Amino acid sequence: MKKDIQYAIDYALKTCQESGVRLTPKREKVLRVLLEAENPLSAYDVVEQFRQKYTENLPAMSAYRILTFLLDNGFVHKLETTNQFLTCHHMCCSHPHQPPQFLICDHCNAVKELSISQDTLNELNRGIEEAGFTLVRKQLELHGLCEHCLHTRDDKA
Ligand SMILES: [Zn+2]
Ligand SMILES: [Zn+2]
Ligand SMILES: [Zn+2]
Repeated sequence: MKKDIQYAIDYALKTCQESGVRLTPKREKVLRVLLEAENPLSAYDVVEQFRQKYTENLPAMSAYRILTFLLDNGFVHKLETTNQFLTCHHMCCSHPHQPPQFLICDHCNAVKELSISQDTLNELNRGIEEAGFTLVRKQLELHGLCEHCLHTRDDKA
């Protein structure tokens, strides 16, 4: 998906048109910044990369507004545990989106979007309920080490 940034932009333009919202040039630029990023970005990173890429200032308030727009339209996700944003792995898919789950590498910050089956999620939720607990956030964020970092760590040991 990362290689096909233009495809993703076109898809977003089309989706917005269909749902009667506008992917303004600024919104498109922010989406492009996120599509080009290797790893999730904080709002501050978005502002910074926007400035570098377009030599144009993006006030933090606008960045937040635009990120909220992109979130609401399902193009990006927000990682609650790290306060970072990344494009949805399924942003160009037509299938319905399950509650998103993420694997987050605490070493290099790489993130993978997972699809855990609804059955597994239900079972997990049942366990959580039985423990008398309520999840404040519906998405799961699991922290660990990615394959790459696991191997580099092994090499050093
Ligand atoms: Zn997603
Ligand atoms: Zn998909
Ligand atoms: Zn890693």
